[in-house]
Amino acid sequence: MRPAPDQAGAAPWTLHAICELTRLAACGYCPAGGLDWPCTSSETGPEGYHVARFAAAMRRGLISGANFAAVIEAAGAFTNGTLIYDQPTGGTA
Ligand SMILES: [Zn+2]
Repeated sequence: MRPAPDQAGAAPWTLHAICELTRLAACGYCPAGGLDWPCTSSETGPEGYHVARFAAAMRRGLISGANFAAVIEAAGAFTNGTLIYDQPTGGTA
């Protein structure tokens, strides 16, 4: 078991890192494309994941409760069907 992210010392997880782990869980809201596939994607836009999938990832221990809370906080109002979009962290457009 890896230690939980340290809120005080460690760098905060990026949304991208959380999405990368969340995609390893099956989405409880849509069939997605299977494990390791985003709920939605396009050729040019960011990949999206349902809130329900983040919840599933948290239950499986893939992401922490703090990670989930950060995602929800960023989303604002949401339902299980709300899509959270992965955001490229690099400078590529
Ligand atoms: Zn989904």
